[in-house]
Parts: sequence; structure tokens; C-alpha cells
Amino acid sequence: MLPAYGQALENPRGYPQAPPQPLIEDKPEGFKDVLYAVEDIVTDWDGFSAFLAAKRPDLSPRVLLISHDMSEIENITLMALGGVVKALNGSVRYLLVNAQNCDAIDRAIEEFQPEWIGFNLYTGLTDHVFEWLRLFKIRKAEKIFKRSFAGFEAADRALKELLRENQGLPVREGSRVIYAPILIGGHYNNHDYKTSFERGADYSVRGKGINLLKDILMGRFLPGIYHDPISYPNIPEFDRTGFYRDTFAFSDKLKKYALSPVKSVLTALGCAYRCTYCYISSLVENQAQSYRDKGIKPPSIIQDRPLRLVLNEGLAIKRLDEQYGTRTSAVFDQADISLNNLEWWEELRPQWTQKVGIPFYIQARPAMLSGQKGIDRIKMIATDNLVAGISMAIESGDENVRKLLLKRMEPNNIILDALKNVKSFMIPMRTQVITGLPVIRPLRDPKMEIGLTGADGRQYYYDDPVQECLKALDLVASSGLFSREDYYWNSLYSPFPGTPLGDYSFQAGFHDGATDNKERAYMFTSEVGLNCFPPLTSKRLEAFHRTANFFSHLLNGKDMMTLFLYANERHDLESFAGFIDDKKEMLLTKRQYSKFGLIPDPTPDMLRAFFDHAFPGPDDAWFKRVNEKLLPYYEILLDGLVLAAKMADRFFLEKEKGARFALEHLTRVERNHYYDNSYHMSYIPKRYFDFLKPYIHENRQVLLAAESKRKEQPVEAFDQEVTSSI
Ligand code: SF4
Repeated sequence: MLPAYGQALENPRGYPQAPPQPLIEDKPEGFKDVLYAVEDIVTDWDGFSAFLAAKRPDLSPRVLLISHDMSEIENITLMALGGVVKALNGSVRYLLVNAQNCDAIDRAIEEFQPEWIGFNLYTGLTDHVFEWLRLFKIRKAEKIFKRSFAGFEAADRALKELLRENQGLPVREGSRVIYAPILIGGHYNNHDYKTSFERGADYSVRGKGINLLKDILMGRFLPGIYHDPISYPNIPEFDRTGFYRDTFAFSDKLKKYALSPVKSVLTALGCAYRCTYCYISSLVENQAQSYRDKGIKPPSIIQDRPLRLVLNEGLAIKRLDEQYGTRTSAVFDQADISLNNLEWWEELRPQWTQKVGIPFYIQARPAMLSGQKGIDRIKMIATDNLVAGISMAIESGDENVRKLLLKRMEPNNIILDALKNVKSFMIPMRTQVITGLPVIRPLRDPKMEIGLTGADGRQYYYDDPVQECLKALDLVASSGLFSREDYYWNSLYSPFPGTPLGDYSFQAGFHDGATDNKERAYMFTSEVGLNCFPPLTSKRLEAFHRTANFFSHLLNGKDMMTLFLYANERHDLESFAGFIDDKKEMLLTKRQYSKFGLIPDPTPDMLRAFFDHAFPGPDDAWFKRVNEKLLPYYEILLDGLVLAAKMADRFFLEKEKGARFALEHLTRVERNHYYDNSYHMSYIPKRYFDFLKPYIHENRQVLLAAESKRKEQPVEAFDQEVTSSI
């Protein structure tokens, strides 16, 4: 019996005592739906592990789990899947690779001798994996079958056939595994599950991976494409210990996961919204489709994780901090929708603050933060400093674009009310906006239900997409609500296949459909993702992207940004600094009280004294001049003197590498500076510490003493994993 709406998605017996009997249906789209009943799933993973140890002492799968190393935040999917392997009394090895070091997969296989190899694939980060798989499968097939193969397809077919004959289990010769089945999951599969299967997966998993991984490893499935759409929140405790162990040992670069002052947690799963640019929105649709002929209303897509598990994971973070000699200053809640269930948070708060005590950074939609309910929510999370910061996506300042193109229904007054509510509790806010959306008139007929034509036939297309970006900037800037500690985050739109907006952009002729072949991180691009704009428009969009945070802190931010973008031909560092210097009398600000910053309110003389100190040589005179012109910039933004010190530090780091500091560096340093504040990890660069120490506010000295031990080097930004979320 499938679970219905309102039903608790927990197995009352903890785990199935007999092999589960999910409903399996062949779908015309080319995959099998696997629909588990509540009694089929495991919710008590420890109990299940003990049960298996007694009943199946032979079961102990060795699994190599692989993903990419682009994200600054731990890969929670791998840690969760590792938790499943551990519950099966197996052993797991984690590996994160990029296009340059795929040979590490071969070494890990040689050394670890896995029985299964699993990949978590992200859109845009797949080509190197498929190329590795192509070579791997040809090599394996030739070795096993002792003959050559005409190409990958023939080798792949032969190996899949061999696996079928072996009931889907690892193929052995004596005690040695000669072929470990390949599993591919991850959000790439939401749309491209067939490609995964055709390009090398023996098992291509779409939707939830927890139940399917367990049953594949237990030998209950033959090679194929499987889809688990039901919103069970039965993720076991993350295997953070194993993940840090392997990433820490792998390379200096990957030590960042164990040592990072920001760790990720997951309080809830799912999202009920249908934003067209986000692949998450299809999950609710997928579940609804699987229930279509069942006569039952499907369960809510948003499900809280058991509080006990989240608490345990917080304690594990603390324990691992001690082991690795670090200190986590904030936990980033990767829930797509935080704060959905206020009772859950109310129950968590006293236990978390008492036992773990690390503040959360959360993502919330404007509707959750507005009105009296919003105030109640914010009040609850502000108590005991449970939350260090909130990010809230507004995506566009044009209600028609938001509603018709993005399918986000919140009007501007809700956004402003949410902003007002958050700021009334002095919580740092990060507003999120998408720059460079496909708002121009389609070049071809997209044959999709989205677009900028209203129900009444009125059209809201733009001739110049920069004008749409300016509306979002104006919404925030002119509100006067933005305080120094708040950050105007924006990313350049990058269309992903399988999302409605990505498909619309392709069909409308705005891009060439090759986004996924570019091997670039989808999470933060510095190039305009659509190739339909004239070069000058793309340049303006990039300049907007790089400078928007500064302009968002001006009451007349829209007008000043317009002047900067349209009255200037160049939009580089020097022209940005020159513009600020020239127009300093026109910059309108509302001086808000801010309790943040190590050196609050630096005077122009303090800043000039710092520039004299930092850039004494003639070689660096040009950058000193740039900084002098940027004086109003430092005065207006958060902790300006510390920001100037970080810029100088980055300038010398770039110089040591033979590179010239440019506008993109300024943007990156500025972004990290705001992140440092909202993740409670403010610091002074070591090379300027002695000079700046006398200026530091007395009450911040204690904080800094703890931070300075850790912050020997600038920490890279902790970007969220999706182009834009919530
Ligand atoms: S962008 Fe955020 S709110 Fe919208 S569908 Fe994706 S996760 Fe949900």
C-alpha cells in the first residue's frame, strides 16, 4: 500500500524483516518506477544493521562513491549514501575528482578493490566521467572476455549482459571481483537518466537514491534505469567521519572539507515550489505522475528529517572539529526549504543550542518570512542566536517575470515585508537574484507554457535584458532596508537542460543547448549563460553581476548603476573606481545602524593611512590610486577597512602569481568578506594584523583571537550548490 498524504513516512517496525516488495512499473519514458510502501523502507538504520549482521553475516559490500570536487561544501549525497553502505555492514571509500585527475579513480579501484562503483553526477560536470567510463568499460570487457571490442557500445552491452547473468551482482573469479557494477545517480539523472545508462551506468538511478541503493547492493535489481519518486525522508546519519577521512587524505585541496569553518547539514527534504530554472521543481511533478492512476493523494513533498539524526550530525561535527583541530562557526542548512515546520525547529532549538551551539545559516522563501507568521518564525530562530544569517531569493524585481517566466508567485510587497522583518531582528540577509534571464522576445517559437505573455495576451518582453536586472536592484536598494551586513548575491543565468526555463531558452533560440558539455561549474558562473545577447549587453550584464552589491547599498542604486553601465564603455576595475570617485557626491545612502564589523565606521584618514602602509612601492602605485578612488566604496560597505586589507592581501597574492588584480577579484574578495561575517568567521589578513590591531573594536578582540589562529589564509566562498535557490 503506497503512502498517502498526511501519513507518517516512517516504518513503525523500523525496517522490513523480509525482502521488500515495492510496486515496480515500466514507464513509457524508458525507466521503471519503484514505489516502496512504508513497511518496505528502513527508518531505523542501526536496528537494520544489527538485524542484517545476524541474518546476512555474508553481506558486507565494498563501495567506491565518486563525485566532483568543485563544491566548497561537503557532498551530502555521498555522505548519506555512505550511511546506507555502513548500515549494510559494508565499507565505503569516497573520492572527489575533476577533469584533470580521473586517473585517481583507477588508483582507488586498484587499492580499495570495490565491489560496486557509484557516481553522483551533477549537470555540467559529466564529460570527464563519461570519458573515464568509456575507457574503463572497453578495458574491462577486453580483459574479461579476452577479445577486442569494436567500440564502447559493444563492450558496454557485453558487460551488462554478464551482469544480468550474474543476477546483477559483482562478477567474481574466485574471491577476486573482476567486474564491479557501475551505479550513476545525482541530479544529472533527473533529466538525463537515459544518457547515463547509454554512456556506461549499469544501474541508472533517478529520484531518491537511498532505498534503491540499499536494494541494488542487496542484489534485488538487474541492470536498468530505476526511479524512486516518493518523498521518504529516511536518509541515514551522514557518514561524515568516512568522508572527511578520505578527502583529507586525498589532497591538500580536499582537506577543506574537514577544516572548513562552515559545514553542511540537512534539516528537511523537498520543495513544493515549481521555479522554472530549478531542477528541484520537477520532483513534486515526478511524484504526482507516479501517483496519477493510484487513486491516492501523494504525501507532502516536504519532509523533516528526524530531529535526533540532525542533532547527532551536529555532535559529529563537533567531535570531528576536535579530531582535525578546527572550529566550525556555522552550519549551512542545505534544506531547499528551511523553517517549513516551526514546531520541529522549536523542539530542535534548546537541544541544539545546548549540545551543539553552532549557529545555522538558512535559506527561506520570502513568503515564509513575511507577515506575522514570518515575524514569529524569525523571532524563534533569532532566540539564542540559533541563526547566523538568512538567504532569500527574489530572483527578479519584475513581478511579471517572476510570475510568468520563473513561476514564483510572491509579489514585491511580500519580498519587502520579509526583508523588513528579518532586518528588524538584525539578522544578516543575503538576497539572491538571477542576472541575465531570458527576458527578450523569443527568436523561435518555444511551444512551452512559459514566456512573458500574460493571460490577457499582454506581453512583457524586454528589448534590453539589463533593464530587468535594474528592477531587482531597485527593489532592494530603494527600500532603504539594506544594512551594511547585507549582501546582494547574484548569479548569471546558466540554462540547464531538463529545467523548464533551460528548455524554454533552448527552444526560443537563446542558447545552443551545449551548457552541459562545457564542463564548468553550474553553481557560479562568471560568463553570461545565454549566447543570444549582443556583446555589449553581455558585457553590461557581467559588469552588473560584479558590482551589484555595492550599488544595492545606495538608495539611488538603480540610477547610479545605469550611469555606470550606459555612460561608460569600459567596465573594468579602473573604470569602476574612477566612476565611484567621479560620482561620489551623488551616492545616496541611508546610514543604518550595524552591529557587525571588526573596525566599524573607519574614517577616510584611517583608510588613506592603510593605503600608504600597504602600497609603499612605485610598482603598486596604480593599485593604491585605485583604492583611493574606491574610498566611498569602502566607507559604504561592511567593515570597509578590513575589506580594504583583504583586497590588498589578494592583490599581492595575485602579483606573486604574476597576475593583475581585476574587477573579478574585487567581486570575489567582497563576496567572501560578506560570507565571513554571516558565517561568524571574520578575520584580519595576517600581513596587516599588526597595523590594524589598534583599530579593532575592543569587544571584537576576543573573537578575533580565536579566529586568527585558524585564518592563516583567505577562505574561498561557500557558494550554494544550485544556481539560485529558494
Ligand atoms: S529554487 Fe528553491 S524554491 Fe524554487 S523549486 Fe528550487 S528549491 Fe524550490
